[in-house]
Amino acid sequence: VDLPIHDAVLARAAEFGDAPALIDGTDGTTLTYEQVDRFHRRVAAGLAEAGVRKGDVLALHSPNTVAFPTAFYAATRAGATVTTVHPLATAQEFAKQLTDCAARWIVTVSPLLDIARRAAELAGGVREIFVCDSATGHRSLIDMLATTAPEPRVAIDPAEDVAALPYSSGTTGTPKGVMLTHRQIATNLAQLNPAIPAGPGDRVLAVLPFFHIYGLTALMNAPLRQGATVVVLPRFDLEQFLAAIRDHRITALYVAPPIVLALAKHPVVAQYDLSSLRYIVSAAAPLDARLAAACSERLGLPPVGQAYGMTELSPGTHVVPLDAMRDAPPGTVGKLIAGTEMRIVSLDDPTRDLPAGESGEILIRGPQVMKGYLGRPDATAAMIDGDGWLHTGDVGHVDGDGWLFVVDRVKELIKYKGFQVAPAELEALLLTHPGIADAAVIGTYDDDGNEVPHAYVVRQPAAAGLSAGEIMMYVAERVAPYKRVRRVTFIDGVPRAASGKILRRQLRESA
Ligand code: ATP
Ligand code: MG
Repeated sequence: VDLPIHDAVLARAAEFGDAPALIDGTDGTTLTYEQVDRFHRRVAAGLAEAGVRKGDVLALHSPNTVAFPTAFYAATRAGATVTTVHPLATAQEFAKQLTDCAARWIVTVSPLLDIARRAAELAGGVREIFVCDSATGHRSLIDMLATTAPEPRVAIDPAEDVAALPYSSGTTGTPKGVMLTHRQIATNLAQLNPAIPAGPGDRVLAVLPFFHIYGLTALMNAPLRQGATVVVLPRFDLEQFLAAIRDHRITALYVAPPIVLALAKHPVVAQYDLSSLRYIVSAAAPLDARLAAACSERLGLPPVGQAYGMTELSPGTHVVPLDAMRDAPPGTVGKLIAGTEMRIVSLDDPTRDLPAGESGEILIRGPQVMKGYLGRPDATAAMIDGDGWLHTGDVGHVDGDGWLFVVDRVKELIKYKGFQVAPAELEALLLTHPGIADAAVIGTYDDDGNEVPHAYVVRQPAAAGLSAGEIMMYVAERVAPYKRVRRVTFIDGVPRAASGKILRRQLRESA
């Protein structure tokens, strides 16, 4: 594993040769392993010729395309640190990220060129913008394939040099640039892949974005490292997604809970032949066991297997291994991967370790813990203590066999009259109501200043008459009194991040 990330991922590219590495799910454009290997080396030469040097930050600003991995590995081979950018970012948001990490180069796609140009103007410091696709007056990666410049020979120290600088999702505050070294990312792949092996003949559907660490790992690095085929979609559209599974005979899905929800509940799912699927993995946000079961029963699959991690952990620490998906206890996010330590400590006294069955904050120590937040030593010190333990900010417990259950984030627990209520538990319960299409729960304050569970509910089209009273009654009949939902607001859609997380912060701001 002690190779730069491009070499670690593409180590077996020659062996996989003519096998399809990437297929565009919209038009069928295919890149073989041989092409990805050759193309990324040529593009690395082109980038070096254009002036990209070791340590430069290159912003990769693109939806999922078949060219994305080539651009990524070319940049790291040229010695750059890649910061991935949300393709829907505004010029202002993009400029903020460029400024925060002092990016010198941008790789974008033609449809996003105007935004990239404006962001570069606002930020200053960007030397050149390249495009992935055909030329538009800017140098394109396609032109670089023809360069005769030598392949750059950059000395990379996998232990120290930062390969990727993804920004955390910004669920709880401003997104932070997370410095991940070549070794951290490569080690985590080596830790995770044995649990859910993929290989030649396996086809995964990349609908979650590559720019987020979950997609970057599960949908790009992991399948390409093992010889599987990645079918790429630029955005989530349920019917296009279902058609891609059918047409490309997709064998494995890595998704987030909103897609599990759609697969479990949406009527249109029944119209598609999804029989090629062998398993589904969900991560990035709490997934309720009932919802997971409804999804797998409907599709005739083993129970949806979860994984757990965060950007700061490169990103994975727990996964339900493929061979344990049928027998793992419902609701678990998995078992701790090899070479990693975990503690569960009391929320009141972080020096006190808790026994199995008791919930507390999850602490992680291992080779995948980030190098730090870029330019934020205080935030890094607040996250990683002097003994190397990363404080995840998540609440969870393990059972007697070591299966981890994540309850929610520490900061989002609602304190109702001294009792702690996990919004995720109420959200999951609300989704079991047939008239509820989607739901989010936050704590808001009643007239006496008490924090109370407040549900934001999207009704099913056929249940427009469902009332707040009925919803509160439904919950009250199923939970302890202190967990009751005490306020209901109807909304048209639950605000979510690209990774599928509920943006409770946005609801709080609007409350
Ligand atoms: P920010 O740190 O900027 O507020 P974020 O924490 O949402 O954003 P990510 O690194 O993308 O950014 O997400 C990591 C978080 O996602 C974890 O801390 C955890 O709260 C949540 N998470 C990931 N996997 C799971 C899972 N299987 N079940 C429950 N929660 C999960
Ligand atoms: Mg976080």
